[in-house]
Amino acid sequence: MICELCGRDVPRLKKVVIEGVIMNVCNECAKFGKEIKGNEIPKEVKYLPPEVVKERLEKKHRRRRDYLDEEEVLVEDYPEVVRRARERKGLTQEELAKRILEKKTVISKIERGEMRPDEKLIKKLEKALDIKLKEKVAVTYKKDSKSSGALTLGDLLKDAL
Ligand SMILES: [Zn+2]
Repeated sequence: MICELCGRDVPRLKKVVIEGVIMNVCNECAKFGKEIKGNEIPKEVKYLPPEVVKERLEKKHRRRRDYLDEEEVLVEDYPEVVRRARERKGLTQEELAKRILEKKTVISKIERGEMRPDEKLIKKLEKALDIKLKEKVAVTYKKDSKSSGALTLGDLLKDAL
């Protein structure tokens, strides 16, 4: 193995940080730098080796994708949606309640926005009223797009560090 500092061929190389750069060097040259133990990259490192940058970016991207993952949430105007759908079907609150085996108060509370239906109730209402009570949202999308029109390489490197 070739020491990246002095070029000597040695059996073992040590990973050290020298002036902010990670280098694989021989025992002798290791004295000039700070040895890196394990996989942790010390704060002194200013220039990351490409494979580390790449790995971190990939991780970041995965995170970002997760971040942007669509999530199904209850529509904010569910009281309106339920009420209008119910009226469209010509059902009273009581009739609707009966259909989904709930109490009338449950329907009125939902329509007044005093109660958020749980998953089970959402499903029942959707089925009974032919509506969608959930919408796909990417909650964090705005936050992300605000900060970055387009990612520059500089941004990526900053992210990676
Ligand atoms: Zn050396």
